[in-house]
Amino acid sequence: MNLLDGKLVSEKIKEQIALDAAEFTTQTGRKPHLVAILVGNDGGSETYVASKMRNCQLVGFESTNIRYDETITEEELIAKIKEINQDDHIDGLIVQLPLPKHIDPDKVTEAIDYRKDVDGFHPINLGRMQRNLPCFIPATPYGIMLMLDYYKIDTAGKHAVVVGRSNIVGSPMSILLARNSNPGNCTVTLTHSRTKDLKTEVLRGDIVVAAIGKKNFVTADMVKEGAVVIDVGINRETSTTTKSGFKLYGDVDFEHVAPKASWITPVPGGVGLMTIVGLLKNTLEAAKGTIYPKQ
Ligand code: NDP
Repeated sequence: MNLLDGKLVSEKIKEQIALDAAEFTTQTGRKPHLVAILVGNDGGSETYVASKMRNCQLVGFESTNIRYDETITEEELIAKIKEINQDDHIDGLIVQLPLPKHIDPDKVTEAIDYRKDVDGFHPINLGRMQRNLPCFIPATPYGIMLMLDYYKIDTAGKHAVVVGRSNIVGSPMSILLARNSNPGNCTVTLTHSRTKDLKTEVLRGDIVVAAIGKKNFVTADMVKEGAVVIDVGINRETSTTTKSGFKLYGDVDFEHVAPKASWITPVPGGVGLMTIVGLLKNTLEAAKGTIYPKQ
């Protein structure tokens, strides 16, 4: 078993992002700028946004965290997004999900200018991704592709099985793995909660991507000998043994699956760190205007 080490790869890619950001700042007199909007007090969301802000600072970006109480109305939130869309000093905008029930996440996503949509959730970016056109790729699938690329994992002609079909992870992951690109060129099976005989499907995977949200869901009997296993899951449980008061578990039963896998991501230390890299790369591209030229 070999480890797909998110810490190592993310550090290497962030070094390059920091060099590119410094060059951008020398040329333009300003830093790439990411704004993150956080609504409410969800513990997981607060941790993720804090980490995104910290990583922006590490690579020399400006970062702004705008916080709202969960009583904010959909109209107020969308009005703020429209204001940011017009601000030339802001390159990327993300709205941390999940949002409170009274706010429609689709309306919010579509309100973001697709040229600042560094989470890659806007339908224009998703459509362009499907067509293999330049776009912002959703940060988690993007990070996974960067990791496969770093380790030169041979994906062409392989059977990839993605478990979970969310708009932010499973669906875009299946599209990226099937695209005519490298990494890519897989034959992809996209599975979900209505899939019949999930175990048989997952057993066919040379590459397995687990994005379900259930601790240790993928067990050793579901995984083919020699498979590449990517664990997207972040399942938080309270713990008395850690300083933070919680412990993270993946969607894969790492202990028993790892001996069968040729490559596997740990949790923590795998996909989560690569997601941040995907976001930083998108923000840098937004600032430079390489995907959508600045007007
Ligand atoms: P969602 O809840 O949006 O989607 C979960 C998917 O899993 C759904 O498609 C669902 O099927 C499927 N599913 C649920 N139960 C089963 C089952 N018994 N059998 C087969 N499929 C099932 O989750 P996300 O995609 O947003 O997140 C998945 C996990 O990844 C979570 O743990 C999340 O915290 C983590 N995550 C990690 C990130 C990172 O940076 N590492 C980034 C984003 C998410 P159906 O559609 O039929 O309901």
